[in-house]
Amino acid sequence: MLALRNAHLGVAAPPGGPLFDLLARDGRLAAIGPAGTLPLPPGARVLDARGGLVVPCFADIHTHIDKTHVVAETGAAAGDLFAAIGRMAAHRATWTADQVASRMERALGEAWSWGTRMLRTHLDWPAVEAPLALEVFADKRRHWAGRVELQAVSLTPLEVLGEGDAAARVARALRAAGAAMGAFVYRQADLEARLGRVFRAAADAGIALDLHVDEGLDADAAALASVARLARAHGLAGRVVCGHACSLAMQPRAQALATLDACAAAGVTLVALPTTNAYLQGSWDETPVERGITRVAEARAAGVRVCFATDNVADCFYPYGGYDLVDIFDKAVLLAHLRDPAAWLDAITVAPAAAMGAPDAPFAPGAGADWVVFAARGAAGLLAPEGRARARRTVIRNGGIVDDRTPH
Ligand SMILES: [Zn+2]
Repeated sequence: MLALRNAHLGVAAPPGGPLFDLLARDGRLAAIGPAGTLPLPPGARVLDARGGLVVPCFADIHTHIDKTHVVAETGAAAGDLFAAIGRMAAHRATWTADQVASRMERALGEAWSWGTRMLRTHLDWPAVEAPLALEVFADKRRHWAGRVELQAVSLTPLEVLGEGDAAARVARALRAAGAAMGAFVYRQADLEARLGRVFRAAADAGIALDLHVDEGLDADAAALASVARLARAHGLAGRVVCGHACSLAMQPRAQALATLDACAAAGVTLVALPTTNAYLQGSWDETPVERGITRVAEARAAGVRVCFATDNVADCFYPYGGYDLVDIFDKAVLLAHLRDPAAWLDAITVAPAAAMGAPDAPFAPGAGADWVVFAARGAAGLLAPEGRARARRTVIRNGGIVDDRTPH
């Protein structure tokens, strides 16, 4: 039994604050009340948050753990997305199952230690046949069950996936594997027709979609509007996630807002990837004027569910970084000029969890006792390195404190 006292809840705080006491029993939240109002059961382990920020454990909805930590071998691509795609294709031809497994293990160990409880990874899936990473992923999903809940999405160029019956064949393999379908969608010829085949295949197979959409700064990259139309037409509300949408920031405001209204109506979730977008988008020959991040504030105002996620780590798409979503939050606040950081903590916690099928109310009695406790007093405190340091946060999983000696 764990009593967490004097906690400042960063997400979904009930009335009666500002500080709360929480009691965890058998891995669940047994009771919650304003600080000082809960009787302390004898024998409970007490953790005094001293007014520090407490959030539900993180959900990282967009990663690539099959190709992470390879930048020493691939080199960085100096901001050129298509150069990075080419380099990764050459590198992928050399992959072995053992290499993929050790990369995934390293990424998941990092994510777990920072307080992530759910993680979705794209798997490079360049042709119709399933890649070797799929089986490795299935092993890791079993191995990490109960610590980091894993989901997979295929990542195939639209010119491959949208051809003939390719999408239907990939969808069958994904349904068997319990995974979702994805594609890289950017200004391809016959985009709408190809995307239509992808949506039809997903709807027929009963699987979700998670697409890399409009990852570039050409204003005529407008696949997001097609995605919203198709999601409605195929009855896939709530089952479509779009990452990137960088070009939305380059389009006339009225056009962008119309697209976001359509996304809201179609139940499309939008994921901004601040590190990879800032690195790959905008000029490298001179100081970049464009920032690469999509219109997150306008999306939220339109009623679209908005998430921030990690995307690439230490590969040719983004040569730096790690699996701490607080670092991503920090970059998002800065790049998107978010006036009130506290109002965006849901974008790395409950919003991605809901998009991944776990729409829990995190601080309601009976919810899982999976929390991250910070010494920092509020969201702004997380924007200082000291505020988000490993030594200044405590991860609670299943009602127990996870420390560095906990085997994983
Ligand atoms: Zn990605």
